[in-house]
Amino acid sequence: MTSHVFPRNSKSPPRQVSHGDGVYLYDTDGKSYLNFGDAAVSCLGHGDQHVTQAVQKQLGQVAFAHTGFFTSEPAERLADKLVSLAPEGLDRVYFVSGGSEAMEAALKLARQYYLEIGEPDRRRIVARRQSYHGNTLGALATGGNEWRRAQFAPILIDVSHVSPCYAYRGKAEGETDAAYVDRLIEELDVEFKSLGPETVMAFVAEPVVGATLGAVGPVGDYFSRVRRLCDQYGILLILDEVMCGMGRTGTLFACEQFNVAPDICAIAKGLGGGYQPIGAMLCTKNIHDAVMEGSGFFQHGHTYLGHPVACAAGLAVLERLIDDQVLERVAHAGSYLRQRLCDKLGQHPHVGDIRGVGLFCGVELIADHDTKAPLPPEAKIAAKIKSAAFAEGLLCYPMGGTIDGKRGDHILLAPPFVVEDLQLDACVNKLQIAIERALS
Ligand code: PLP
Repeated sequence: MTSHVFPRNSKSPPRQVSHGDGVYLYDTDGKSYLNFGDAAVSCLGHGDQHVTQAVQKQLGQVAFAHTGFFTSEPAERLADKLVSLAPEGLDRVYFVSGGSEAMEAALKLARQYYLEIGEPDRRRIVARRQSYHGNTLGALATGGNEWRRAQFAPILIDVSHVSPCYAYRGKAEGETDAAYVDRLIEELDVEFKSLGPETVMAFVAEPVVGATLGAVGPVGDYFSRVRRLCDQYGILLILDEVMCGMGRTGTLFACEQFNVAPDICAIAKGLGGGYQPIGAMLCTKNIHDAVMEGSGFFQHGHTYLGHPVACAAGLAVLERLIDDQVLERVAHAGSYLRQRLCDKLGQHPHVGDIRGVGLFCGVELIADHDTKAPLPPEAKIAAKIKSAAFAEGLLCYPMGGTIDGKRGDHILLAPPFVVEDLQLDACVNKLQIAIERALS
């Protein structure tokens, strides 16, 4: 029967999901899938009773009230809780419905902030190659993911991109971490200077790069050096924690681990854990006050800002992560998963790097260990691994174009935090089979 749903891809129509339970999803034929590949959304797995009941209770009370007239208890409580747990300085929360919206809000707030403080020339954004910040036009322009940008390039705003901190490929032979960081900071400084630092409004980065690079964290003091450089020129630091935030790396905000606090931070995915679509943009008091004591309003907005049911879900997710200490499982489970991946795949001739932070793991594939040459893009290894893993009952998130948007392949694994060691073992076994099938 013809579906009237516009699919992601005409060549691989999706199967129909029936239900979810813990770390598993089930299709309508009764087949089960370990859900480690839903782009880092399901932090609590499926069927969490606390979150489900919070959503039901809020629906019974009031489902929607426009923020042009009302705030709501869940929005107030969630904002209080997020701020109490956020990196120093972040003081206000702007609730949206997802990651791209959070990034759009972040970019527009940065621009409005500079207008409010009398620096209207600040309009440029600097971000990093091999990054993803969302699919709406501003967020897409900011991202450095070449294949996602290519066909829309003529309608994207002009954003400069510098090198990511990607030690596996970026660090030269024999170079120390410190020298590599020096080189990256120098490159950023040169970019700021060539644009004219007084015209730059923000530097944007994912603390741990997710979909585009496959769980790549920084080395050494990269982020504190970035922070210092931004401060030197009065440029805002926007961290995109849409994928790596909300506990995915073992701390609620990923940047906590890298000794850096942003001026603006975007979160989504794990904030709602899949129970509701919700994202948020957090900013400092200074930025908030400049806008509110200046024009008095942020020239932005969406109908579903601060949706009470979405906020109730976000609050209940945070209660599970923090009050019920689910977050504390991430560090152990993450190291266990990486250890098992190293045991099973570490010596594989086509596995070049196994990496990640917390339950955010990446496996980079190569053709040759000595040269780190990638597999040929036309082999479409990432897509083949995705379908072979799916056939094995494992949802993972493989992606091609790791190196430059065309060459390179990696697999991203982002299991729910409630995962058990035996389920991680099963994932590694299934992944090993999928890699062999895809390469055969
Ligand atoms: N930023 C990052 C780092 C992401 O990984 C994503 C989505 O994968 C986004 C932004 C966009 O989020 P959404 O798909 O919820 O709009």
